[in-house]
Amino acid sequence: MDDCIFCKIISGEVPSEKAHHEDDRIVSFPDLQPVRPGHTLVVPAKHYQWFWELPDDIANDLFKVARKLAGELKEKTGADYIQLSIVGKDVPHVHMHLIPRKFDDTKKLL
Ligand SMILES: [Zn+2]
Repeated sequence: MDDCIFCKIISGEVPSEKAHHEDDRIVSFPDLQPVRPGHTLVVPAKHYQWFWELPDDIANDLFKVARKLAGELKEKTGADYIQLSIVGKDVPHVHMHLIPRKFDDTKKLL
């Protein structure tokens, strides 16, 4: 999709040196406006707007990568848990937010 910021990051048109291809279908990169340190996005390389539009194999891969990264993020940031949110109103390209959280941080995020 031409005006999609995530497609531009994935194609390299918008540089994100921290963008990381987990495989040819899934890409992760830091949120440009992190709500907590370590806030990471996981997205399918191909453009879909909503998560229910994803083919099963891509949906499975997306969740698999999110689970792997969540474990790594928890370790790296010392978080108590990793919040996973899918909203989809801000950028119309399916993305999972992984947000490191502490139990005593009760603010509602996303
Ligand atoms: Zn896109």
